[in-house]
Amino acid sequence: MTNATLIDGKAIAAELSETIKATTAAMLAEQGVKPGLAVVIVGEDPASQVYVRNKKRTADACGFHSVQHSLEAGTSQDNVMQLIDELNRDPAIHGILVQLPLPKHLDEQRITQSIAPEKDVDGFHFLNIGKLTAGQTDDAFVPCTPAGCMLMIERQLGDDLSGKNAVIIGRSNIVGKPMASLLLKANATVTICHSRTQDLPAVARTADILVAAVGRPNMVKGDWVKPGAVVIDVGINRIEVEIDGEKKSRLTGDVDFSEASEVASAITPVPGGVGPMTIVMLMANTLESARRAT
Ligand code: NAD
Repeated sequence: MTNATLIDGKAIAAELSETIKATTAAMLAEQGVKPGLAVVIVGEDPASQVYVRNKKRTADACGFHSVQHSLEAGTSQDNVMQLIDELNRDPAIHGILVQLPLPKHLDEQRITQSIAPEKDVDGFHFLNIGKLTAGQTDDAFVPCTPAGCMLMIERQLGDDLSGKNAVIIGRSNIVGKPMASLLLKANATVTICHSRTQDLPAVARTADILVAAVGRPNMVKGDWVKPGAVVIDVGINRIEVEIDGEKKSRLTGDVDFSEASEVASAITPVPGGVGPMTIVMLMANTLESARRAT
């Protein structure tokens, strides 16, 4: 029996997509501007191919000008940089996203940092990271996954998290660290845990808001969760399960959903939680970039 409210990321994302679509139509009618999103993918990584397809499909559905650049796995650093330079200068493009991870021979940092900060809708440029860390989110781009998590947290708890303890498991630049900045800006008391943290279950149990972004299937057990906590499961893990004697592949989060949902007040499912929110926040950032450019 599940006690927790299910935070339906898919439904919230669909609702936001409708608003983005309507705003995009109005922008086109009133200013003749269409938000433009360019997605660059290098190589054949199957998970990345799925993510990029979903992003393009959502951008099309929102009424954006959407382009995809699929480069061969062996593409040189210079060629990738040259493409980004062209996209930086293209007035029809307001958002540039380079799908990570990149093949090993490419310098991910140099490529990410070569995207013009005003088109960096993933929020990975140091200028945007700096602004977010300084709490200056009005003209920064916030990374899409933590931005989506934050919206779901606000829907449960409001936008002032004063007095709440937030624990994030994972300290990546893409999820854990920007998540901490957003929670701090909303006045939560924030703890970041990682692979070297001692007695992780005990720290997790202090959380009114628990965000798991590790990449380890079902790691967070029910007894790690404080009764009544809001649990956000960022993890996407592909596992093999046996159904009727047949091996099948299935997606699961970092949280043991069946256990945690007995204890939490609200919880995100995997799939259908953080994933769809991430994509819609990318659209929101691209629309915002187009608005700033006009
Ligand atoms: P990452 O590998 O960059 O970081 C993982 C973090 O987990 C690290 O900081 C590490 O210290 C910590 N960690 C590893 N083992 C640990 C342990 N035993 N105990 C405590 N901490 C531990 O990963 P990431 O890019 O932040 O992604 C994390 C997960 O979120 C992955 O499953 C990824 O697929 C998923 N993800 C989902 C979305 C989405 O849209 N839903 C977006 C980004 C990432």
